[in-house]
Amino acid sequence: MKQNLSSAAPKLRDAVAWQVVTVETTARTQIKDITREIAALIKQAGMENGVCQLYVPHTTAGIIINESDDPDVGRDIGDVLDRLVPRDAHYKHYEGNADSHVKAALVGSSALVPIEAGRLGLGRWQGIFFCEFDGPRHRQVKVRIARD
Ligand code: ZN
Repeated sequence: MKQNLSSAAPKLRDAVAWQVVTVETTARTQIKDITREIAALIKQAGMENGVCQLYVPHTTAGIIINESDDPDVGRDIGDVLDRLVPRDAHYKHYEGNADSHVKAALVGSSALVPIEAGRLGLGRWQGIFFCEFDGPRHRQVKVRIARD
């Protein structure tokens, strides 16, 4: 994606608008690695140094940064959250997905990653994970790439 701002624009306005990345989930609980999709946006933007902000606009999904080298880490995180917050525990919420809301609240709805030398400034073992707690669903992550 090309930036609409001219190179003469003030630095503070030197940002790309929020973009939407779609995420398809295939299970009720799924911790899905989306690092590659986000890295592609950084590359497209041609941003050398800046910050990547990520926001999940859902009440039963969230986002985390954790180990991506071993895919079992994401599975373990999902399994532990399912054990910690059982599906049926006499919740008051009428929709039958109270556990999904609680898990989403535990992991949070946003993340921030530095952009360094045109790449995501993640640690050696880190990846960005979309966290589905009421899937399968068609989901979104809002992404904003801003220059330093
Ligand atoms: Zn609900």
